[in-house]
Formats: sequence, C-alpha cells, structure tokens
Amino acid sequence: MKCKICKKENQAGALFINTATSKSDYVCLSCQLEQEMANVTDLRNIDKQIKDLEGAVEQLKYVVEQTGSMKNDFPPELMAFSPLSLYKTAEVSLAKLKARRMELLLSKDATFRLKYELKKALEKEDFKKAAQLQRQLQQEE
Ligand SMILES: [Zn+2]
Repeated sequence: MKCKICKKENQAGALFINTATSKSDYVCLSCQLEQEMANVTDLRNIDKQIKDLEGAVEQLKYVVEQTGSMKNDFPPELMAFSPLSLYKTAEVSLAKLKARRMELLLSKDATFRLKYELKKALEKEDFKKAAQLQRQLQQEE
C-alpha cells in the first residue's frame, strides 16, 4: 500500500475512508504524526504526546529486544509492521515532536520559557533546578 502523502510503499500506517467519496486513503504513521504535529500549538498538548510516545518507544524497545530484528523472516510488506520498524518510526516521531516543542518554546518570551522549565523541574522534583529557575524568573520580572 502506498502512502497518500509521502508516496512511500509499505510503511506502517492506517487506511482512511472518505465517507463523502467512499474512496480510501492510506496514510503512513510518520505522515499522520506530521499532520497532527502541524496542528499542535499548545505546549501541554505536545508534552502529553511526547510522554505517550516515550512510553510507546519503551515498550517497542522491549519487544525488539525480545524478538530481534526478524530480518528475512517475513516478506517486506509485513516487515513494515515489525516491532523494529515501528520502533524506528516512533523514535523519529519522538525526535520531531521534541524539535517542535523547542520551536514553540523559542517563539515565546524568556519569562514564559522559565516558567515552563520551572513547572517541568517541579514535576521531576528537581528542586535544585527549580530554585535556580525561580531566581532567574525574579530577575526577569
Ligand atoms: Zn507517508
């Protein structure tokens, strides 16, 4: 199956049926994520997606370690859905999401970024960093 957007064959993805035309479109996983990302402008949203994806990457990594690469065991059209290629796709998407998050952060002012970092530090219970960020924030304001 060919992806409608990047035109690559045999990528893991999903079939979409257009209810108006009853035509089906195949869109691969990375293109789906790309489209989703284009709409993400909310940092909380992006953080949640990164967290979800990190969980998925961890799980896939475990599966890959258990199953090995499975190279040559299956025909190529099935290999697109192998744990290894899903894992690679997920990793690439994760990197893209993180880049997008960076882009979003850079488009904000310093106070916003510091507050965001502060929130993150508190979530991770990194109080040393939190205190440092707090001081920086006081200087900004
Ligand atoms: Zn695609």
